[in-house]
Amino acid sequence: MADPGRPAEVPPDTELAGLGVSQGRAAGPVIRMAPPPVLPSPRQVADPAAESAAVVKALESVTADLRQRGALAGGGDAAEILDALAMIADDPMLREDAEAAVRGGLDAPHALDAAFTHHRETLAALGGYLAERAADLDDLKHRAVAACLGLPMPGIPAPGHPYILVAEDLSPADTAGLGTDVVALVTEKGGPTSHTAILARGRGLPAVVACAGITALADGTVISVDGKTGQVGVGLTDEAVAELRRSDREERARLANSSGPGRTADGHPVKLLLNIGSAADLRPGAEGVGLFRTEFLFLDRKQEPSFEEQVAAYAEVFARAGTVVVRTLDAGTDKPLPFLGLPPEPNPALGIRGLRVDRVLPAVLDTQLDAIAEAARATGADAWVMAPMVTTPAEAAGFARRARARGLTRVGAMVEVPAAALLADRLLAEVDFLSIGTNDLSQYTFAADRQHPGLADLLDPWQPALLKLIAACADAGRAAGKPVGVCGEAAGDPRLAPVLVGLGVTSLSMAAVCVPSVREELSQHSLEECRELAALAR
Ligand code: PEP
Ligand code: MG
Repeated sequence: MADPGRPAEVPPDTELAGLGVSQGRAAGPVIRMAPPPVLPSPRQVADPAAESAAVVKALESVTADLRQRGALAGGGDAAEILDALAMIADDPMLREDAEAAVRGGLDAPHALDAAFTHHRETLAALGGYLAERAADLDDLKHRAVAACLGLPMPGIPAPGHPYILVAEDLSPADTAGLGTDVVALVTEKGGPTSHTAILARGRGLPAVVACAGITALADGTVISVDGKTGQVGVGLTDEAVAELRRSDREERARLANSSGPGRTADGHPVKLLLNIGSAADLRPGAEGVGLFRTEFLFLDRKQEPSFEEQVAAYAEVFARAGTVVVRTLDAGTDKPLPFLGLPPEPNPALGIRGLRVDRVLPAVLDTQLDAIAEAARATGADAWVMAPMVTTPAEAAGFARRARARGLTRVGAMVEVPAAALLADRLLAEVDFLSIGTNDLSQYTFAADRQHPGLADLLDPWQPALLKLIAACADAGRAAGKPVGVCGEAAGDPRLAPVLVGLGVTSLSMAAVCVPSVREELSQHSLEECRELAALAR
């Protein structure tokens, strides 16, 4: 590895550009992720029992490593992802497959390779989300083979000094387990709503994805990363590095001091709310929770969570957060819930997902609404409830009827499908508020898979077609005198915030790390200026 801090042979003042997905700036030496282990030539197996024992030991060591990193992650998405991966590595079927491969004549590393490859192919054949999880199995395979060969675990380096992690892409396990020595991350692939982006934002780590050319840099090259603009500067002088770190420190200190409700410069209120997946994501400084992604609580569950378990999970959040907008389970496509047992579909993003699950399993929504109502009663919280993937006014009406029958008085619909935005006025005749999920609204408006790094330009929330749909919802909200918020990732973009407010949006819900800069930016613009910016943008 090159000497950290010594610029590699790249022209000074070169600039690479990617997508800024987690704000903040950092500078430091690049370290690229260690390559996966190379399998040696197969060995003649003299002692199958010893090979089997080596297989078991490798799987146990990978499982233990993931569990330990899960415990160190301290809760939240990161811990959940690491625990889920540990469960896969600990799967008895996987171990039995590898032991069968040993009995078939393979040595331990090749038996592990064969077992993981077989499981990967099975998942890939199922399509949809499960096919996407197949990449996790590659990551686990590399770890298991490395453990078996006595090689250092591939994945996150530990150089003993702060560095910028560069990778082609980062698996959920790698991103979730990043140590505090990683000061920023840059990947060649990935999209704005990828795991990398969501986890980096959760940690407040500057991050740039879809940055072409980044993996060509040598280890030790000093770069700067701007997680807001997506710019990556290469070949910096020591003075430039020191200046950037100083100004980032100042900026963070300034933002950390920001508090109070969201307001434009002339006092127009805009609620600043949190997006959470569990109570572990709650932070002070916001005005409540604008999106509680309840499906995150149950992603790896094989059994439906009971009414009592759901009441406890919701009450934990309600007791600490006051006002909470609970989204009912958004299962399907990139977030399947195994306990629902839904069959694979040829085109899952356009299939049974979100509220549509209710068409085939109505009891699931009934139990969840019962549990939300009970948790609200028990805690006295101001609980709002909304459904994901609402497409027609009839769907909104049906959901509202069932929620109100349980005493839930603030009932809303997410706007994630263009059809819903186009009939926002009719949706608002049925419900009390709308919350715009720009991640999916972009995906469905632009016919662009939200996980696709090559389509990031279409998924850019500044696209005028998306802004026009947001404006249509806000206009309908104004006419009906009902709130219309944004809870997709776009709400956490401080540059976009004045535009969204100018379009008429009444609340913005985002990862906790985004709140101070959005609050700060809003306070710089009067409502009239926001409206002017919105008129220019749409
Ligand atoms: C969205 O689609 O914008 C949204 C907030 O929901 P999710 O990202 O969970 O699909
Ligand atoms: Mg969505």
